Amino acid sequence: MKQVIFNVGGALATYTEFRDKKLVVDIGKSKEFSPTNDFLLPLYKKRENLKSNIDKTKYHVDQLIISHPHDDHLSDISEFNDKFYPELLTCPNDNDGMQAGHHINWKLLEKNPNVDILRKMLNGRKPPLKEVIKDFEYIYYIPPRDCEQSNALSVESYCNNISIAVFLIINDHRIFLPGDLQKTGMDEIISRNQSLKTRLAGGVDILIAPHHGLQSSFSTVMFDYMKNKKTRCLNIVSEKVNTNDKRNVDSRYSTSDYCFAKNDIGEKDEPHYQVKTSRGHIFIDYGKNDYPRIEIINDTELLIKKFL
Ligand SMILES: [Zn+2]
Ligand SMILES: [Zn+2]
Repeated sequence: MKQVIFNVGGALATYTEFRDKKLVVDIGKSKEFSPTNDFLLPLYKKRENLKSNIDKTKYHVDQLIISHPHDDHLSDISEFNDKFYPELLTCPNDNDGMQAGHHINWKLLEKNPNVDILRKMLNGRKPPLKEVIKDFEYIYYIPPRDCEQSNALSVESYCNNISIAVFLIINDHRIFLPGDLQKTGMDEIISRNQSLKTRLAGGVDILIAPHHGLQSSFSTVMFDYMKNKKTRCLNIVSEKVNTNDKRNVDSRYSTSDYCFAKNDIGEKDEPHYQVKTSRGHIFIDYGKNDYPRIEIINDTELLIKKFL
C-alpha cells in the first residue's frame, strides 16, 4: 500500500493505492501544483488498461471522497472530472435516495463554481453515495441536518462539521483522515459512533490532523480515545499559510505527548512527531514492515516513479 499527501499549499489532497484499489480523498490544488495534471495524469499515462468501464473516455479510479464542499478540498475537481471517472463518489450531498436528515443544505454554503461541478458529477449516480471500499475503509459523519440544527456545530462551521471522516485499515496499518472536523464536531462524531471509538482504541499510525492542524480544531477527546493517547508514527499537518493568529497550527502535534514518532524521517536523536505538507509531498510506503517508510519528495517525477 502506497499513499501520498500532496503539497498543495493550504489545501488538501491525498492519493492511496492498496491491492488493486485506487482512492482519492480530497482534491484541492495550489497555484504551483495540480494533483490531477501534475501527478495522476502522468502516472496513469505510463500505465496501460486503466480506462474506466463506465466512461471509456476517462481513467478509472475506484473512489473519490470529498470530505466536505470547501474549495480547498475540491479546487482541482474540474481537471479531475475531465480525465477521471470515480466508480464511487462519496461526499455530503442531497441525493434523492437518501434520508432527508442526510441531505446537505447548499444554501448554507458559499457559492462556488467547483461545488457546481461536484453537484453535476452527482447527477445520475445511484444513492446512497456514501458507500465504501469494503473491508478496508470505514466512514463516519454527522448527518448534515443535525449539524444545521445544532447551534454549537453550525456556529463553529456547518460545512467543516459535515466532513466525512475516513478510517483506513490496510495490512494492519491504520490511517485516520477526519477532514475539517472542528473541536465540537469531533466530540460529536466520536460520541455518536461506538465503532469509531473502537477503531481509535485500536490505534492510529498516521493522522491527517483535523482541519489542517489548526489550533481551534485540536481535539484532546480524539487523542483520549486513541490507543496510548497518541499516534504511533506521525501527525501530518496540511497547514494554512499566510494566515492570521487565530489560524495557527497547534504545536501539540509536534510533541511526544501526542505521537510516538515511529518513523524514519528524522535524524537519529531528533524524532519527528509532526510533518507539514509545505515541506513537500509526503510519500508513505506501508509495505510489510512494522512501521511505514515515510519520505518527503519535492520532485514530481520521482514521486510518480514510486507508484510504478
Ligand atoms: Zn480545509
Ligand atoms: Zn473546510
